[in-house]
Amino acid sequence: MEKKKYYIENYGCQMNISDSEIVCSILDNEGFIQTDLIQNANIILINTCSIREKSEKKILLRINQIKYLKNYKKNLIIGILGCMAEIFKKKFFKINKIVNLILGPDSYRELPFLIKKILNQNGKYINTYFYNNETYSDIIPKRKKEKITAFVTIMRGCDNMCTFCVVPFTRGREKSRDPISILKECEFLFQKGFKEIILLGQNVDSYFWYGGGLKKNFNKFSLKNNTIINFPKLLELVAKTVPFMRIRFWTSNPNQITLNVLNVMKKYKNICKHIHLPVQSGSNKILSLMNRKYSREEYILLINQIYKILPNCSISCDIITGFCNESEKDHNETLNLMNYVKYNFSYMFIYSPRKLTYAFKKFNDNVSLTIKKRRLTEIINLQRKHSYYRLKKSIGKIQEILIEGISKKSINYFYGRNSGNDIVIFNKKNSKIGNLIKVKINNCTSATLIGEIF
Ligand code: SAM
Repeated sequence: MEKKKYYIENYGCQMNISDSEIVCSILDNEGFIQTDLIQNANIILINTCSIREKSEKKILLRINQIKYLKNYKKNLIIGILGCMAEIFKKKFFKINKIVNLILGPDSYRELPFLIKKILNQNGKYINTYFYNNETYSDIIPKRKKEKITAFVTIMRGCDNMCTFCVVPFTRGREKSRDPISILKECEFLFQKGFKEIILLGQNVDSYFWYGGGLKKNFNKFSLKNNTIINFPKLLELVAKTVPFMRIRFWTSNPNQITLNVLNVMKKYKNICKHIHLPVQSGSNKILSLMNRKYSREEYILLINQIYKILPNCSISCDIITGFCNESEKDHNETLNLMNYVKYNFSYMFIYSPRKLTYAFKKFNDNVSLTIKKRRLTEIINLQRKHSYYRLKKSIGKIQEILIEGISKKSINYFYGRNSGNDIVIFNKKNSKIGNLIKVKINNCTSATLIGEIF
């Protein structure tokens, strides 16, 4: 039988990119062939995101756009994967009749079997069940050809229950991946020529290996403490296993990151000095409504500790503006906190109410869109100033840069990243993509460093 071609389109966060790589690996192992041309595909998979309404709308529009392809290929399979599968469940079949497969983030192993079933017998299939032990630990994701940076997922799901966030409902509760499989994958990536690893999780500091299963079920487990591997231990193991690779991790939670993590970062040269530490708001009232489990004062103490232990560490964050009951005073407290920390960069969002969340059910989305937009603009403008302030501090310094590719501005220039995750553009000289080189920083814009090979 002719081999079937699949096309996959990805939306959302790094976790989704990593999941799409897992899906490709599962399908390739079963003899399916990936195509980059949607028109050539027998199977179209959309890996979806539900974090904000905007992302969902964009994806629904996209599914409508590709409807016409069904006219040309009667047996075309269209599958919805990931977060939106968990939110819409069977409703997807009704909303869009062209969809024949719906799979949540824990069911990707079933893809080859279900695709073959649809090809042979037609029909529509759905599995949105969360499996307590599924971490895809034995699957090596199929990565892009440029062997520079690889995502390595270390945990799945989230237990934090921030009142605004849909993740615990779309990705299930927290479970960690077997550390042996993580280390093996890192070793494998090094052998394959990759230069950098990004350890991924919704909340990496919560990594907790006690033999498998949900973190919340730990108390039912009898062997307990002597077998536990937590995040600082894992980070140290990874840094030792691949000493010639750069290590990053993403995302940290202010409530769970420990001094041990900072000390491990300090001890190992190959761990990049950058922490993504979403604050969400600078107001204690809003942090409490968001159920973030830390106060503004505790967050500031943490920032001080980071700069004490790692003086040159970059800190970035996520901020949500216009959450329920956010007053002008609360907004100003966010701006004040930003002025204190002076983040290297931030992802900044307007609050988007999400069904299933506590905030959607219990609070009133009572900040008008006009106010939300105005506050967002103020936050973005301030962040721009701070990014410029931070980047300017690098001028005159010699930094170690990992070359990632050719600059969009000119083919005579490469771009890469320093340890703090800033993008640097510089002349090519005799260097190659993938090299770790020294660059002297001569100038900057509000988003990019400009330098020359030293
Ligand atoms: N687990 C991380 C945390 O909570 O710190 C990040 C998870 S989420 C994939 C990335 C970011 O999206 C969050 O940090 C938050 O700023 C933003 N976000 C999540 N839910 C949102 C919502 N309902 N409206 C607007 N932004 C949201």
